[in-house]
This record gives sequence, structure tokens and C-alpha cells, in this order.
Amino acid sequence: MDTSSPLRVDAALRDARARIDDDDARVLVAHALGQAPSWLYAHDDDVLTAADVARIEALVARRAVGEPVAYLTGRRGFWNLDLDVGPATLIPRADTECLVEAALARIVAGATACVADLGTGSGAVALAVAQARPAARVVATDASVPALSVARGNARRLGIGNVAFVLGDWLRPLAARRFDVIASNPPYIAAGDPHLREGDLRFEPAMALESGADGLDAIRAIAASAPGCLVDGGWLLLEHGYQQGQCVRRLLAQEGCVDIATLRDFGGQDRVTLGCRRAGR
Ligand code: GLN
Repeated sequence: MDTSSPLRVDAALRDARARIDDDDARVLVAHALGQAPSWLYAHDDDVLTAADVARIEALVARRAVGEPVAYLTGRRGFWNLDLDVGPATLIPRADTECLVEAALARIVAGATACVADLGTGSGAVALAVAQARPAARVVATDASVPALSVARGNARRLGIGNVAFVLGDWLRPLAARRFDVIASNPPYIAAGDPHLREGDLRFEPAMALESGADGLDAIRAIAASAPGCLVDGGWLLLEHGYQQGQCVRRLLAQEGCVDIATLRDFGGQDRVTLGCRRAGR
């Protein structure tokens, strides 16, 4: 980018578009200027300062080598929440809204249900559920200290008070408690899967993505302990890969769950498997 002469917004956008995707260029140029992308339409001929140009250039250069847009802006929309995200957290996916929907369908509005979200990352699932069910008490765990700090920051900024965040693996810090609903979007990609070397996944924390040779280590660990932490009639809901539905249904059956089903995401792929703890187990 030529920084010697005054540069206008339209020229900066053109430069950015030559190097990165059009939508990403709009988002990042606007972000560098402290504006929403829609602001750009009416400000084509605004003249940029040298500092503006330098900020735009830095963001475009990072995007050009693959850094996720969500890490560059520090934000990602999920459900109806605008979440802070960072390199310590998975970037929330639209697919995971299927998990939120399935959890909400099993929490009666107004009931003081106890809900757990395991491996909360940015807090996406826990916060979406807690906001939609203000009478519920939600507890969210994560084994990553920096991820929990992002999640706590989101709860504070969004004013969502009915979530407690606890450090630890899956249910381990909650072992003595009983829940009406346990939900988790754990890592479920097989170690060595070529997708891990593509796109945003290259920059996301491996501990939030990879889980053993078949991708099912975390799901096996959760399936083994979760039914014992559910009330009779309580539900376990697990997000998983689009080819893992059958394996997860089998695992939940082995652990004594009933009414097991797999739900599809908005793209029509198997995405969430759920099972109920039988009464008197
Ligand atoms: N759904 C994500 C992906 O395939 C992975 C998220 C996860 O492992 N929980 O990109």
C-alpha cells in the first residue's frame, strides 16, 4: 500500500480487496476505522490519516496470511449475542446454534433448572442458554484459564448473571452435583485430520478441536461421567462431527441413556446427539 500520499476510503478498500476476500476487506477496513461495515457506503471519499492506513494495512496483512477475521476484530456473533473471542477460544460456529436450540427445548421457561456447559470456550452455549432462560442456573467449565477469562468477560459485558464459570476438565469440578441438562461442544476432530491444516482451524486452539485418533476421546469421557451427574429424566446433549452420529448414539446407549436421537444442523448434517437418563438408574 502506498502510504506517501493521502488515501481515501475507496482506495483503501480497493487495495484490501486485491489481497483478501471482499467481505473480509469491508469488515477489516471498517474495524480499523472504528466503524461498522455499513458506514463505508456513505464514506467512500473520506480521507484517511497515516495512522488509519497503518491500522488497515496491519489487519489486511494478517488476514492475508490466514488469521481468522474473528480474531482480528475480537468479536463473533453467535445466537443473539455479540461475543468477544480470541486465540484462546474456539470461534463460535453457526452449527452450534443447533445445540443451543436443543438445550432450550429441554429447559422449561421460568423453571429453576440446573444446566452445565462443558468446555465452554468463549461461553457461547452457556451464555445463550442463560440469557434465554434467566431462571436457570448455568455452570460452565473449561480446562483453559485464558478461555475462562474470555467467557467471564463476555458474561460481565452482556450483563448475564446466572452463569458460574469453573476451571477444570468436563464434569470433574462438578462431580457432586446433579443437572437437568448437560450440554457440550467438545473437541471432536481426529488428530491428523487434514482440515486442521486449513482455514481458521490452523489458528484455533488444538485443545478445542482435536480429540484422539478417532476424534471421540472427549465425547467418550463425557458420556462415561455425565449420566451419573443428571437427575432422573435429565438430558445429555453432545455436539459432534457429521459422521459421528452413529458412534455417539451407541456410546450413549452403552451408558444407559434412553430416548437417544441425533439432530441435524442448518446445513442438514448430523450435529447433536442427545440422550435421557432413565428414572431409577
Ligand atoms: N465444528 C468445528 C469444525 O469442524 C469443530 C468444533 C469442535 O471440534 N467442537 O470446524
